[in-house]
Amino acid sequence: MSGLTWGGVDCQRLAEEYGTPLYVYDSGIIRARCREIREKFLARWVNTRARYAGKAFLTRAMAKLIHEEGLGLDVVSFGELQTALSVNFPTERIEMNGNAKSREDIELAVNSGVGRIIVDHPDELRVIEEYSRRAGRSQKILIRVTPGVDSHTHSHIATGQTGSKFGFPIEGSMLRDAIEYARNSEYIDFRGLHFHVGSQLFSNQDHLTALENIMNLIRDLHREMNITVRELNFGGGFGAVINPSVPSVRLEDFTDPMMRLLHSKCEEYNLEVPRAIIEPGRWVVSEAGITIYRVENIKELPKVTYIAVNGGMSDNPRYALYQAEYEAVSVREPDAPAYDRDGGTHVSVVGKCCESGDVLIDNAKLPRLDAGDLIALYNTGAYTFSMSSSYNRLLRPAVVFVEDGKAKLVVERESIDDLLKGDLL
Ligand SMILES: *Cc1c(COP(=O)(O)O)cnc(C)c1O
Repeated sequence: MSGLTWGGVDCQRLAEEYGTPLYVYDSGIIRARCREIREKFLARWVNTRARYAGKAFLTRAMAKLIHEEGLGLDVVSFGELQTALSVNFPTERIEMNGNAKSREDIELAVNSGVGRIIVDHPDELRVIEEYSRRAGRSQKILIRVTPGVDSHTHSHIATGQTGSKFGFPIEGSMLRDAIEYARNSEYIDFRGLHFHVGSQLFSNQDHLTALENIMNLIRDLHREMNITVRELNFGGGFGAVINPSVPSVRLEDFTDPMMRLLHSKCEEYNLEVPRAIIEPGRWVVSEAGITIYRVENIKELPKVTYIAVNGGMSDNPRYALYQAEYEAVSVREPDAPAYDRDGGTHVSVVGKCCESGDVLIDNAKLPRLDAGDLIALYNTGAYTFSMSSSYNRLLRPAVVFVEDGKAKLVVERESIDDLLKGDLL
């Protein structure tokens, strides 16, 4: 039986060289996803753009890779923007999202020349205007709209429902006043609208319903206020499967029906077809990433077996946050059948944090393991490293990129010096 490899590299060797827990990304898979976006969306439909949602996973190496692959980047903070700027990411292809942008976020975005700011609150308009006036330019913006769709996902990652903290409501004066304000400003260039229904969606239905609502809005804005929406950002949310042997969601199953709907509605309402932009995050990186852990101990209780590993919610809080599902394998024997101690025993992979909610997998199918064995969780590329913390003063794991049999360290493991840095007496 052969051990687990990722990107052509032996995972046992990776663990020995870089330690555990370890985030391992097959950058070839990320590149393949970017290529799919180019071929199945950008090349297939005219006047389209794609921005990778950096919040799913952003490091300098990742920003560089996204740039090399020809996509743009969506950032949501000063820190994400600085990360992109540090690798000379072309700012015209950066957009900034966020529901509570600070003055510093907006100042940096305007001054560095980001392509679009996605406005999420009326107050932002005055701040954008202030900085773009100083810079002597006009800032291109989109306005984020709440599409009024209750998406079929965990409530913590649904964003498009009426009453969401994100965006301007479709109905009422808030949106119309903001567009009017932007239209009348020399320093703001209103380009269009943005919506995002939620995350980890496997059916395109919510996206289509949202688009239909937005198209009605675009029609009304045109009729009532003679407003032309030149750009429409569809957001992200395309799902990623948990098991690598199951094919993931096909991008075009989302984007083709949306593009057809966009075109047909524009024809029906006699509107110019706006530029369409997508912002996938998870779909680009989730399946490229695995996390390798060492088993610290195994506790066999009457009804449950706990496999405790040397990481947990500090490097992957997603089960704790919204019961994200994962699958794990033994690094030594990835194909070994699951072991069931006495038929029907529940096997739970738990972390080392001092919380009962520190679970990685609630119902794992793993072979018989011993302390010291390595396991790998699949599909941990999105929202793990980027959500990691030093809870319990654990050190954040390193990140390694692997491709074609070669490994490259791209983020060093946190050290005790890093942990104590700036911690003063
Ligand atoms: C989170 C988010 C995305 C990316 O979501 P995924 O589910 O990772 O594709 C895109 N756009 C906006 C505005 C977001 O908030």
